[in-house]
Amino acid sequence: MSFEISEYPPRTFSDKYQKYLAPHGVLLPPHQVLKNKKLGDRAEEALRKAFKITVKKLKKMKSACANCDKTDGVDLECEGCRGVRYCSVECKEARLPTHSLICHHIKNEAVDQVVECLPSPVPLGREVLRGKGGYVGDWEAWFTRHTTLGDSIASVAPLVSQWWGYTGLPNPGEEALKASLQRIVSNVFSTVLTIGHCPSWFPDYQQTSTDREFHIHLLGADEPEVGAVTSGIIQVSSRVLGRPLVVTLVAPDLTKHPVTFSWAPTSPYQVTPSVKAVAYPGLYHDFWREHIATSDPKAKVQRPDIALAIHPGVHTSDMLTLWRPTLQLLALEQVPLTMTTYNEAEFEETLEKLAPLGLKVVHKGLNPLRSLHAKQTPYEPDHIWAANSYAIAIDNTRSSRAGT
Ligand SMILES: [Zn+2]
Ligand SMILES: [Zn+2]
Repeated sequence: MSFEISEYPPRTFSDKYQKYLAPHGVLLPPHQVLKNKKLGDRAEEALRKAFKITVKKLKKMKSACANCDKTDGVDLECEGCRGVRYCSVECKEARLPTHSLICHHIKNEAVDQVVECLPSPVPLGREVLRGKGGYVGDWEAWFTRHTTLGDSIASVAPLVSQWWGYTGLPNPGEEALKASLQRIVSNVFSTVLTIGHCPSWFPDYQQTSTDREFHIHLLGADEPEVGAVTSGIIQVSSRVLGRPLVVTLVAPDLTKHPVTFSWAPTSPYQVTPSVKAVAYPGLYHDFWREHIATSDPKAKVQRPDIALAIHPGVHTSDMLTLWRPTLQLLALEQVPLTMTTYNEAEFEETLEKLAPLGLKVVHKGLNPLRSLHAKQTPYEPDHIWAANSYAIAIDNTRSSRAGT
């Protein structure tokens, strides 16, 4: 589950103009794009218009009053972010205490939405990696010590600034554009860095040997986890762990991703020399019975060192009902579990929902490797969400398990 909207104007723009703006996979400067005859004689005018239409569509998405949802006469704007509107002073004041906490995020989001229109501004291939890998504690370390991304971002900011001129919006300046590119790039790497980082939340992790393969189960895996494998960026997780990695994706929804059908538990897909991927399109219980608890040596695979559920959504009772058997299985089998949530509200509600299960929470709080690309939630204007915002680590090896 996510708050992603199906019709997102910057994505529509980027998809449509990718073949002109980034024909070889990297964003070109405007003067080179405008030489392309296929864009027609009035290319510059057409591009300016396309940007303006996109900006207008984005504005329309936030045209209702952020307090009462009224759509007529919504003329008052927050001066801080210019991204939230109200129908009256009363409505604006009613929201002030909660809006002021996220106003700067909404201001950033407005910059990010324009930058997101631009296809491939920062190259993200294998060549961005720097050094030998190892523990990544936060984004600062990632951008400066483990990759060349910080340098690439600094060098493309002037180019993004040139394109900004086509939007008709006031230019926020190169520093703001750099910060925006960094947020957008963080979104790409948040999950793979969290996979590599999450074992460090468990007290016993340091004692495990580093020469053998590390086995991690990604529960409820979907598009982003599949994409991390197919793009190869999953190798980042192995670099962070400093050891070979086997990622096992388990979820009924994997049936939607035919590319995973050949990643069988007994013949994993070798993604890179240090990473193997496995996919099981079904329930975790069935996977466990068929491949872990089995006595058939042909079907049996290694037990997981850790399980990770990216945004399982167990803050809602419906999702908790679906997840409860898996949580109980992991507790019974003493498999450490980490889960992430999209925002603080979900994090608090998740902790509340988990409390009666008697699980041993050994780490909880903001994830230092959360996506910095925060967006306003569509249903609650004063909440923001971002991938892997908060993390909860449950040490089932030392739990006072429910029923025991
Ligand atoms: Zn109102
Ligand atoms: Zn504001």
